[in-house]
Amino acid sequence: MIDSAVKRMLTDHQEKFLIPGSVVANVMNTNNLYHAFLVLTKVRYAKIIVLDKDGKYRGLLSLPMITEQMLETESVDVEKLKHIKVEQVMQTDAPTIVDPYDVEQNLHLLTDQPFLPVVAENGDFTGIVTRREIFKAVNHLAHDIDEEYDITSKH
Ligand code: AMP
Repeated sequence: MIDSAVKRMLTDHQEKFLIPGSVVANVMNTNNLYHAFLVLTKVRYAKIIVLDKDGKYRGLLSLPMITEQMLETESVDVEKLKHIKVEQVMQTDAPTIVDPYDVEQNLHLLTDQPFLPVVAENGDFTGIVTRREIFKAVNHLAHDIDEEYDITSKH
C-alpha cells in the first residue's frame, strides 16, 4: 500500500495522466504492414496502438514486428508487407488498464512498459498513460514533499 500522503502528492495533477485517444497515434488491425510501416516511421514512436473499425483496442505494433516479416535470407522484401495484415503480427498480451488514475497500478505496470493502453470494460480505447507523465508526478513528490509535510527520521 502506498502511504496516503505520498499518494495524495502523486495524484495532485492526475488529470494529466491520461493522454486521450484522439491524440494517440494508431493503425487499424486490417491495415497492411506496408501502410503501418509508413505510419510508424512517420510518428517516430517505438510502438503504437492497434484499433478496429469500431474504435476497440486490439493490440500493439512495433517496427521490429514489421521488419521481421520483410527479412529474407540475404535481403529485404518490402513488397511482402503489402500482403500481411497488422492483426497477423501485432502483440496482444500487453497489459491494459481500465482506470488511468490508479497510481499504485500505474507505478507497478510502468516499471516494465513505457506506456499503458486504457481500455474500457466494453473494449473501447480511451487513451494511454505514459511513463513520462507518471515520472513527472514522482518528480513532484520527490522535490515538494517537504513543502507540504514535516518529515522526521525514525532512526
Ligand atoms: P513517453 O513516456 O511520452 O516517451 O511515451 C512513451 C511511449 O508511449 C512512446 O514511446 C510511444 O510508444 C507511446 N506514446 C506516447 N505518446 C503517444 C502518442 N501521442 N501516440 C502514440 N503513442 C504514444
